[in-house]
Amino acid sequence: MTQQIQITKSQNLKEKPEVAGIPFGSYFTDHMFLMDYSAEMGWHDARIVPYAPFEISPSSQVLHYGQSVFEGLKAYNVDGEVILFRPDENFKRLNRSLERMSMPKVDEEFALDALYELLKIEHDWVPDGEGQSLYVRPFVFANEPYLGVRPAKSYRMMIVLSPVAGYYGAQLNPTSIYVEDDYVRAVRGGVGEAKFAGNYASSYAAQQKANDLGYEQVLWLDGVHQEYIEEVGSMNIFFVRDGELITPQLNGSILPGITRKSLITLAEDLGYTVREERIHISDVEKGIKDGSISEVFGAGTAAVVAPVGIMNIHGTDYRVNNNEIGKVTQELYDNLTGIQTKKQEDKHGWVYDVTATVK
Ligand SMILES: *Cc1c(COP(=O)(O)O)cnc(C)c1O
Repeated sequence: MTQQIQITKSQNLKEKPEVAGIPFGSYFTDHMFLMDYSAEMGWHDARIVPYAPFEISPSSQVLHYGQSVFEGLKAYNVDGEVILFRPDENFKRLNRSLERMSMPKVDEEFALDALYELLKIEHDWVPDGEGQSLYVRPFVFANEPYLGVRPAKSYRMMIVLSPVAGYYGAQLNPTSIYVEDDYVRAVRGGVGEAKFAGNYASSYAAQQKANDLGYEQVLWLDGVHQEYIEEVGSMNIFFVRDGELITPQLNGSILPGITRKSLITLAEDLGYTVREERIHISDVEKGIKDGSISEVFGAGTAAVVAPVGIMNIHGTDYRVNNNEIGKVTQELYDNLTGIQTKKQEDKHGWVYDVTATVK
């Protein structure tokens, strides 16, 4: 059922910015991908067109009831070749998110082909500076003009691209986190495991609170007991405890990160034992106090890994690893970014060479 993709090239190419100076997600390339869905026609009218605003009906369902999901991945420029890291996983997860939100699934292979086509056209936009990449944002939203509360009958899928600077400067900087015990991000049986737009809007209040208190990120506890660790900001979380890696087990309210999944495999390759467990906040507090927990870090596409240096637990500040990057954290970061930049062997077939495929 592979569709043709209609291509309309922009007549008016933008100037490429100095990537190092642009804030994340604020500058977009010359073209974008779109396709539409209707109950009668399924997904149709796949096209790549100049990046531009478009019209939407004031009664479009997405504006009222929020049926909208997204993905996020990065294209890297490795010696002039365009590389993606496990993009198949992103489109699989997109379909799981779509299913959860009662939205129509996409053909994963076709969606990946569409991304390849778009990247072929935008090849020159993939920056090659240290840590820089072209952030890829696929998203799908309800687009039926109708105010009834039921799943929409028409949708739009789009992919836009944004050049981004490295998350870090010269080295990994430890972040400070605030354990949130009032607001929750997600509940079991809810939508926490979907990359659903509303999950992010509903996290802003806690993020603002953490910032006001002087911390960079929120550490989320589970929504039922408010005792078990879930995630940190929009990242999954790992602990190094007695030389082993521990991460919260997926429970329906945690977003199943591709970085998380990759780090589990990579850590096992490197000889570490990795445990997926239910982790109680008071055990973390104890572990940091007695030194059995030596490192804490977040994991996600944006930062790859984000070391945690300060953790506020129920009003007390704890320093983790003396507010420095831990050995294991650094080792995992170096190994994962090494695979992503083809400096290290890719023995699991995680790296997709877009350039080689489109030639
Ligand atoms: C996207 C996301 C992650 C990380 O997923 P990756 O696939 O590793 O980028 C973790 N938590 C939340 C809430 C997210 O939205």
